[in-house]
Amino acid sequence: MKYRQDREFAEQMDALDPLASYRNKFYIPQTTSGQESIYFCGQSLGLQPVTVQDYIEQVLHGWRTLGFQGHFRGNSPWIFYSDSLKPKMARIVGARESEVVIMNTLTVNLHLMMVSFYQPTPHKYKILIESPVFPSDRYAVTSQIQFHGYDPAIALLEIQPREGETCIRTEDIESLLDKEGASIALVLLGAVNYLTGQFFEIQKIVDRAHFHDCIVGLDLAHAAGNVPLALHDWNVDFAVWCNYKYINAGPGAIAGCFVHEKYAESFDLPRLTGWWGGDVKTRFLMGSDFQPTPAASGWQMSNPDILSLAALAASLDIFETVGMERLRAKSQQLNSYLEFLLDRASDERISHITPRDPEQRGCQLSLSIKDSDTTVLEKLNECGVFCDWREPNVIRVAPMPLFNRYTEVFDFVEILKDILSSSTGLTQLA
Ligand SMILES: *Cc1c(COP(=O)(O)O)cnc(C)c1O
Repeated sequence: MKYRQDREFAEQMDALDPLASYRNKFYIPQTTSGQESIYFCGQSLGLQPVTVQDYIEQVLHGWRTLGFQGHFRGNSPWIFYSDSLKPKMARIVGARESEVVIMNTLTVNLHLMMVSFYQPTPHKYKILIESPVFPSDRYAVTSQIQFHGYDPAIALLEIQPREGETCIRTEDIESLLDKEGASIALVLLGAVNYLTGQFFEIQKIVDRAHFHDCIVGLDLAHAAGNVPLALHDWNVDFAVWCNYKYINAGPGAIAGCFVHEKYAESFDLPRLTGWWGGDVKTRFLMGSDFQPTPAASGWQMSNPDILSLAALAASLDIFETVGMERLRAKSQQLNSYLEFLLDRASDERISHITPRDPEQRGCQLSLSIKDSDTTVLEKLNECGVFCDWREPNVIRVAPMPLFNRYTEVFDFVEILKDILSSSTGLTQLA
């Protein structure tokens, strides 16, 4: 695609955009002056689908009119509600239906997965993570290491970008695995890094990690609903994700979890159990012995929050009609167009730390603005642009193919250039 620098080009792209009408399926937050904002923050909290209210109202209606019988009656009996969403969820992450389960929240699921898949021994006890890593993941793995009586100072390995680079090279991960693999029990990566937006080459990493008998877990917080995933075919061991970022299921939404089919009958794995992970055939007999449901569902503990599932159901129905392929196609266009305009902004203070290869990133470009502080972000907010700031000086900008427009990308770059060149520009801001 050949991009152009004039606004008419963006207008033409919007007019030709096959996904343009999907914007109407979301509420777009407004600025203080009542205008639609430029919302580039979907990687932090996705927007509310217009249909969410109806889906939730249905559940409320069932509860109002049927009471406990809503578990078994009505249009969407609650007892099957979670299972009914699995095929749609599975298509987003490239899994078989039985490999996914919707439960809890991300960090909780990460712990539950590590209970089963992080089994350190005196020779094989290390966990490899990427750096910079999202703090919750670091806290979770550190506490698991300590829980098993090991020292995080030795057992926690972090792979970093090379000096002067911002992203991690696949070859560096591979050679670290070759060097340390014998002592590594678990490789845990954010499939898309939360700060840089780097989409790791998962297949290569899984192959090398498995060659050294390491388990591979993925945190898909910034990947699910953003980039094409093939968890089953890649042979990933487990994965966890939240549904409130790219998947638009609302603040604190119920989360997702993947366990590869090869563990479907691994009932000898240690796991923390609760009645909802029990086989449906015997779950309600209230017996004293736990009989796990095969596959991912066997990791459930409690009956799920149906109100949260209802919001997720509304969002998944939108994903179903678009499909990840069309989403990815528009996402790459939007994202490369943003990069094209930034490259030509002729302001050398602006650069981005995301891979330049479109295959190694999702929606997000992480801008690094030299010598700047959060004042730039505040100015952007004042101009009706919502994106977010991560220390030390990264502005995450994520145009979403479901609800953002090419003209918004154009306007964003113009606004940013204006802010940086205005009299209250950077030297005064810094
Ligand atoms: C957003 C995010 C989380 C959030 O964890 P919760 O348990 O949902 O609060 C965890 N890890 C990563 C990488 C994230 O981006």
